[in-house]
Formats: sequence, C-alpha cells, structure tokens
Amino acid sequence: ATDDRIPRISSSIRVIPDFPKPGIMFQDITTLLLDPAAFKDTIDLFVERYKDKKIDVVAGIEARGFIFGPPIALAIGAKFVPMRKPKKLPGEVISEEYSLEYGTDKIEMHVGAVQPGERAVIVDDLIATGGTLTAAIRLLERVGVDVVECACVIELPELKGRDRLGDKSLFVLVSSA
Ligand code: AMP
Repeated sequence: ATDDRIPRISSSIRVIPDFPKPGIMFQDITTLLLDPAAFKDTIDLFVERYKDKKIDVVAGIEARGFIFGPPIALAIGAKFVPMRKPKKLPGEVISEEYSLEYGTDKIEMHVGAVQPGERAVIVDDLIATGGTLTAAIRLLERVGVDVVECACVIELPELKGRDRLGDKSLFVLVSSA
C-alpha cells in the first residue's frame, strides 16, 4: 500500500514544460518546499527508511540534493557530504566523470570526507537517466564506501535510470510519467 503522505508530496511538485529546453518536462521541487507539511513528510519518509540502517554518510548531489540531504542526515545522526560540480570545493578532491546527452560532466568530493567501510545513502531530487547517480556511486565506491541505497524524491521511469544503477538499490517517493 502506498503511504498516504505521497499524494500531497506528488501534487506539490510543479511541472514546467520545455525548461530548460524544448521537450524537457522540468520537475520543480521549489513548490514542494513552499508547503511545509509536504516538505516535512518528504524528509520523514526518508528518515523512517534510514534511521535504523546504521548509515554513516548522507551524500547529497549538487544542487537539490543539498536541500533534501542535510535534514535527513541530522535526523538520522549521519554526516552530510556534498558532491559538487567541478571547481567548487576548496580542498583536495577526487572526481568522477560521466556522460551527458552532449559531452561530459563531473562531480567532486573532498578527500578525507568519508572513510573506507562507511555506509552511505546518496540523495538527489530526481533520477532521470541515472548518469549522475551512477557517477556518485562510483566515486564513493572508489574510496571504499558501502553505498547502501540511492534515494530520490522523483523518478522519471521512462528514462530507465533504475536499470543503469544495476543491482544498486533505488528508493523513490514519486514516479512521474
Ligand atoms: P540524470 O543524471 O540523467 O539521472 O539526471 C539527474 C539530474 O538532473 C538530477 O540532479 C536532476 O536534478 C536533474 N534533472 C534531470 N531531468 C530533470 C527534470 N526533468 N526535472 C528536474 N530535474 C531534472
């Protein structure tokens, strides 16, 4: 049975067609943030899932993983680690490249932010092709972290990002056609 908090979360997300370019149905979570009950339910659902799973690290993906990740980390007593776009982090970084529709992109993490054997959940607002999450998983696994699950508010199932994650577990609250 679906949790009765999901419909409110789902309906609080605004869809903006053709942003940032024609053909993209942009899932705008800023309207979810305007509804404190929906925002709280979103965080609570993740916290309920992870609070007893011995999670050491919540890794948040820039930019909207920085909105949902920290309140989850605080509530479950985990550290928050930002995974950022290139040249944003001031310390020594390790990075992982991934392919986009045109060209490549990169995410970076501070060296020393995580330790081998730590258990992590990766948080972002949305999974589309899964390219971003796949790169984040690779980056954390390269330094010996156990990635327990990826967690997103929204999944675009038509893009089959879930398949790209292979046997890595993915938890989402809302599926969008
Ligand atoms: P992907 O790597 O293809 O799974 O893309 C996921 C990343 O791109 C996430 O960080 C999302 O915030 C962003 N993104 C991709 N498609 C959309 C969309 N339709 N609406 C909002 N954000 C999107």
